[in-house]
Amino acid sequence: MEDCIFCKIVKGDFNTEFVYENEHAVVFKDINPKADTHLLVVPRKHVASLNEVEDAEFIGNLMMTVKETCKKIGLKSYKTMINTGKEAGQTVFHLHIHILGGEIKSFDL
Ligand code: AMP
Ligand code: ZN
Repeated sequence: MEDCIFCKIVKGDFNTEFVYENEHAVVFKDINPKADTHLLVVPRKHVASLNEVEDAEFIGNLMMTVKETCKKIGLKSYKTMINTGKEAGQTVFHLHIHILGGEIKSFDL
């Protein structure tokens, strides 16, 4: 998707530092952190939201990426969140999973 900011990040257009990556997804720090640790797990493939997901393995791979990321950075306790749709607060329409660790400042992500 040409105009998608997360597709551009996945491609490396902004030289974003990846905290973790694998064949399925990249993981980077949220630019506007709402917790001590606030990461985004972003699939390499463009899918607009959870509502467009048809493949259980695809979403399973993303959840395993959450686990692998937290293991790598030594984060034992964390919350995960997916905003789906504008009314729920989704602002970037490329599916992503928020990882929130430590003190959480807001749940309005
Ligand atoms: P959501 O509101 O669930 O769609 O989450 C989108 C998140 O992406 C927000 O928490 C933003 O702060 C974050 N975000 C937007 N642009 C960037 C960027 N260029 N790099 C890192 N995080 C971003
Ligand atoms: Zn995209």
